[in-house]
Amino acid sequence: MSEAGAKAELVSEQVQGGGEAGGTPVPVLATPPVPDAAMEAVTSILGGVARELDVAKSQRVFTNRNLKMADVEIIGFDMDYTLAIYQQAELEKLSIECTLHKLVKRGYPDAILGLDYRPEWAIRGLVVDRKHGNVFKMDRHGHIGRCFHGHTELASDKRRELYLRERVRTSLPPYAWIDTLFALPEVVMYCALVEYQERATSGGPVDYDRLWQDIREAIDEAHRDESMKTRIKADIARYIVKDPYLAASLHKFRSSGKRLFLLTNSMWDYTDALMTYLLDDELPAYPSWRGYFDIVIVGGAKPKFFTDRDSFLELDAAGVSIGAPKGQLQRGRIYQGGNIVDFERLAGAGGDKVLYVGDHIYGDILRAKKSSVWRTCMIVQELEQELTTVAQHREEIARLAELDRRGQRLESELNYQQTLLKTLQKLADSDAPRLPGAPHLVLAPTDLEAAKKAAKASLDAVRGTLRETLAEFDTIALRVDQAFNRRWGALFKEGNENSRFGEQVEDYACLYTSRVSNFLAYSPLQYFRAPRDHMPHEYSTRD
Ligand code: IMP
Ligand code: MG
Repeated sequence: MSEAGAKAELVSEQVQGGGEAGGTPVPVLATPPVPDAAMEAVTSILGGVARELDVAKSQRVFTNRNLKMADVEIIGFDMDYTLAIYQQAELEKLSIECTLHKLVKRGYPDAILGLDYRPEWAIRGLVVDRKHGNVFKMDRHGHIGRCFHGHTELASDKRRELYLRERVRTSLPPYAWIDTLFALPEVVMYCALVEYQERATSGGPVDYDRLWQDIREAIDEAHRDESMKTRIKADIARYIVKDPYLAASLHKFRSSGKRLFLLTNSMWDYTDALMTYLLDDELPAYPSWRGYFDIVIVGGAKPKFFTDRDSFLELDAAGVSIGAPKGQLQRGRIYQGGNIVDFERLAGAGGDKVLYVGDHIYGDILRAKKSSVWRTCMIVQELEQELTTVAQHREEIARLAELDRRGQRLESELNYQQTLLKTLQKLADSDAPRLPGAPHLVLAPTDLEAAKKAAKASLDAVRGTLRETLAEFDTIALRVDQAFNRRWGALFKEGNENSRFGEQVEDYACLYTSRVSNFLAYSPLQYFRAPRDHMPHEYSTRD
């Protein structure tokens, strides 16, 4: 069986074995009978394509905007966190170690090397408030949900005082938006060092902005001066996940006639080391990774690649510049830098015939979308864990939806009962209480008293049930939220809303999925269709 077939089978087994699908049989449309030989031929052409519903949810490709793969001529890939998935815990440890040593060189005390730094303190989509030393998570409306100062959650009155008086514009200087997995260690270090500095100054003033700037510059230097990359190259298996289906996935695109290109910000020697590890000799037809790609661009300097007009350079095999490219961008050559306008001209392909696959919401996806009509696919590796958590808490999540609906009905009932009681009270207060529908009858005070008593009892009962409903909702919501991340909850949600990060993925990525090899289960000519959009008025509260 081909590797592609093996993956489709594996995925299908997981579903049938009660993995992601929770053991529920998946309804499959009846397939019209096809003679065996014909079926075998068709299956071999599809190369292990599975039906969408047979693919475990955590391995599906999700669609925000319809995309016909048949219309795509050329597919571009980012490298870091897209083709090359990092062992996040190991990379964070290394980033923190290299950054802290640089901070010590800049005059920070040795004691910072021995502090506790935990990866779970950060997720993508957080915002750092450099002025106040806080880190917060926003929902899609720009409302600031939870907010931490060091390791302490800000009380809601403090949060309101700081952030609810005027709209927070995260593009302004006091804020830093954490939009790549490379940046998570920065938040982890910031939280620990904010607390450390406050302890060290015994509550005296701390320059939170300076602290952020120092961490940023130190980690930037660690990426640029090779201190991290030398360690990664020396022990690639420790830092990079080798996806056994990556080669087959790229090959499948190629065999359906797509051209492929690599566009990474990493420089040549690092790119070559990682790509060699990932792809060389994985398939007999491709002894070198370079065989998969028609165009290779390193040092792409995204997002500038999409906005500026830097020129392309051609490099020799040692990574040394040999001048500007002559004519079209060619297979087997190495290019550095460049820009989207020249790329489209020199590659002979552009516009919506290009699909670019990347992990960085700003540099790869948002910028590409705003500066061009390239189609985009975002790799969100956290999706696997998020969907696994959703599957593990499926019943509680269903219960939350039920409690939410019940809460809405009870609130409406409570309003009704309160109005009823107020009306009865008004009648009781008047000299000659009469009902509007029967003005000739004066109500007896004892009847009114009995009606008030009944209405009050009914109001108390509704209030009690509502209180119980909300308490159960809050308990389950907290438990489910913490199952994603104890501090920050789910990546795509904040409270009942989509998180700002989730909204950006929805707005700018045509497709999103947890890893490139998830495409293997789909036809290279797949029509990815977005689900029908719904506005609140289209949902009935009486469902
Ligand atoms: P890409 O994702 O393949 O485009 O490339 C990411 C590259 O950016 C990697 O080589 C990273 O080491 C590098 N990188 C990530 N964060 C920083 C930073 O803060 N400063 C400089 N380089 C960075
Ligand atoms: Mg990347």
